[in-house]
Amino acid sequence: MSTQWQVAEVVGGVPENDTARTIRLRVDGLTGHLAGQHIDIRLTAEDGYSAIRSYSVASAGMDGHLEITVDELPDGEVSPYLVRDLAIGDKLEIRGPVGGWFVWRPINRNRVQLIGGGSGVVPLMSMIRAHQASSNESPFRLLYSLKSPETSLYRDELARLDRESAKLMVDYIYTRSTPEGWPVPPARLTSDAFLGRIFPPEENPDVFICGQTVFVETVADWLVMAGYPADSIKTERFGGTGGNR
Ligand SMILES: Cc1cc2nc3c(=O)[nH]c(=O)nc-3n(C[C@H](O)[C@H](O)[C@H](O)COP(=O)(O)OP(=O)(O)OC[C@H]3O[C@@H](n4cnc5c(N)ncnc54)[C@H](O)[C@@H]3O)c2cc1C
Repeated sequence: MSTQWQVAEVVGGVPENDTARTIRLRVDGLTGHLAGQHIDIRLTAEDGYSAIRSYSVASAGMDGHLEITVDELPDGEVSPYLVRDLAIGDKLEIRGPVGGWFVWRPINRNRVQLIGGGSGVVPLMSMIRAHQASSNESPFRLLYSLKSPETSLYRDELARLDRESAKLMVDYIYTRSTPEGWPVPPARLTSDAFLGRIFPPEENPDVFICGQTVFVETVADWLVMAGYPADSIKTERFGGTGGNR
């Protein structure tokens, strides 16, 4: 982990949907990261103005490369540039990976409940990938809250893992539109819709919640009220006051 700014080179970019893109970076001297950590990116204009934003690491790799997935905010300062304009071969200043709280370690044998809202699934994907790559057999569940199926990140990979991996179960909540044939209509999020689709408190899961601030705080409150110990719940807020509720 580096707390110094260093240069990373863009070596790949894959669209995830209409507004989000996964960017692969080569970082000299990167010796690994913990699943759930993030990096800071600093962009500096010719006049010296600079903007810093955080992006979770999506990959689980330890080979001098890491991936981030950026979802574009239409009126955003940094995310549209990263999604639309950044090209292979471009260089970025990055710091990290950082963060030692919102992380999953393969040594942890508890079952794990992941809850993601929108792009909040990114650090959870890193945990899923690290879990899949490890010999840790503890069950993982992901509950992924989305406006519509089209806004999903990692759609094919999650569907494949849900089908093929005995270690992971994936479930979705849709707030605006659903896939064809989905058993429930899209709806505003409710405590009942959440609590019925996650490991119950008696199973003592470690819970990771990530997304926009209001999403994270609302869901964490629901869980505490339902009897999940507060210290079993870890949260990461991406900012913003809207949400996909
Ligand atoms: C630890 C951490 C990890 C993060 N990881 C990711 C990630 O993996 N992928 C990702 O896409 N983003 C992630 N973010 C959010 C990211 O850092 C930026 O906030 C986001 O890309 C918006 O930056 P911007 O410059 O485009 O928008 P800004 O110019 O900063 O903001 C534009 C408008 O959008 C609002 N806004 C700011 N952030 C958000 C938000 N997250 N959601 C909704 N509205 C917002 C602002 O209030 C403002 O009105 C993370 C944030 C944190 C703190």
